[in-house]
Amino acid sequence: MEQFVRKRLAFLASFWNKLRPSSVPDNCSLGYFGADLVSPQPDWDPDPALPTSPLFVALYDFAARSTNELSVSRGDKLRVYKEVGEYVVARRLSGKSIGYVPANYVAKISQETPSHQLWYFSGISRHEAERLLLSPPNEHGSFLIRDSESSKGEYSLSVRNQAKVSHFRICKCPDGSLYVQKGHAFPSMEELLAFYTENWKVIQSPLVKPCTPPEKDEWERPRSEFTLRKKLGEGNFGEVWEGLWRNTVPVAIKIIKQADMKAEDFTKEIQNLKSLKHEKLIQLHAVCSRGEPVFIITELMKKGNLHSYLNSLEGKSLSTLHLLDMACQVADGMTYLEEKHIVHRDLAARNILVGDDLTCKIADFGLARLLKDDIYSTSGSTKIPVKWTAPEAANYRTYSLKSDIWSYGILLYEVFTYGQTPYEGMTNQETIQQITRGYRLPRPSTCPSEIYLVMLECWKGNAEERPTFFALRENQIRACTCHPRHPM
Ligand code: AMP
Repeated sequence: MEQFVRKRLAFLASFWNKLRPSSVPDNCSLGYFGADLVSPQPDWDPDPALPTSPLFVALYDFAARSTNELSVSRGDKLRVYKEVGEYVVARRLSGKSIGYVPANYVAKISQETPSHQLWYFSGISRHEAERLLLSPPNEHGSFLIRDSESSKGEYSLSVRNQAKVSHFRICKCPDGSLYVQKGHAFPSMEELLAFYTENWKVIQSPLVKPCTPPEKDEWERPRSEFTLRKKLGEGNFGEVWEGLWRNTVPVAIKIIKQADMKAEDFTKEIQNLKSLKHEKLIQLHAVCSRGEPVFIITELMKKGNLHSYLNSLEGKSLSTLHLLDMACQVADGMTYLEEKHIVHRDLAARNILVGDDLTCKIADFGLARLLKDDIYSTSGSTKIPVKWTAPEAANYRTYSLKSDIWSYGILLYEVFTYGQTPYEGMTNQETIQQITRGYRLPRPSTCPSEIYLVMLECWKGNAEERPTFFALRENQIRACTCHPRHPM
């Protein structure tokens, strides 16, 4: 245990050294493990004696998200050994590594169709071609070849000409040759394009560069990859389920009913989750946002939320040292949000998730907002968790990193009382009144006095006088280091 906490909280070294100068190594260390998304190990072994595997081309950049996936760049030629559901098992011609690539990121190179060519956009309509060519980074001279909508088996050339798009029908002769102008046929599309690239004045539209496709969202995964197994709980935006990714990797799946939330809120929550990465923040793995309901897939935290965990038999048996460790982990994660000027606005034990080895991670950024000038104030009648909310936020809806500090003080109270509700027996209204008059929660009998002093710091009436999360973490350490006599 000591080794584990020593490793986890390296910054507490002086405290541990003071407490136990010569520690016994603990081989059962539960050290932190990152919950990276791991693909199942590809289960094929390409046999060099087999006929050559088909050649594909990457249509988009793809960044591998686990060791079993293969990163490719648009235009890379690939050997594909196997198709597995919505993925192919591939190797770049220029490389040795083999891994999964989403099947819709690649196209087979065949002699008959130009599918491997970067200028060929299979299955898009005239309207979509216009939208694509007119969107950045495409510009004057961007072009593409698509299947003709009106003449099956034939093609169309769409070219951006300043702010307009011109379309040219490419007809097919009985011998397979292709032409734009009757009497001027070419044996292949490549040769036709080479001619009009050189002689663009004939069609009065320069062919400068193949159209760039829209960026693929690397977080987006097919819904079929996930199976729901057990309902874990329900939050502001829908149900949360324990599930499996590709029948192997345990994940948590938040099922969002879009009808229940503003599209804007949803996009914000997703954006926050995508842009934030810290070992003490719940990690987003993927989203399934095409169609309804939307799935948000995050790492699974086996022991659920901290509030319920503290109330469980296992939680009740935790020592003060464990509790201190958990409080430090939350302060770690909040220090990261503080550095990014992000206010959580709903910091409470119910929004902290606990993993197997007592790893704590901050969750639920549904209420988080990116701050422009460190204070986010709002009006309206949104429900707020009054007993966790600083008086200036409860009374005037003025949220800041300092109001998160207040909530952290309440979270400390929850932690050191093993999940008691703050201001038990008081209504929300009474709580606000009492707080405004200067009342503060008394020290719980299970709480070390130095931790209680930290709580009081967090509950200073003047928000400016409250510590920062960074300083808070340091204060906790100092307080504990100065009083090692407390039973741990
Ligand atoms: P939320 O909507 O995020 O407030 O989640 C509702 C409840 O579902 C939480 O209080 C947890 O008990 C549970 N839960 C949410 N996310 C996870 C997760 N990643 N791992 C395990 N349980 C979770």
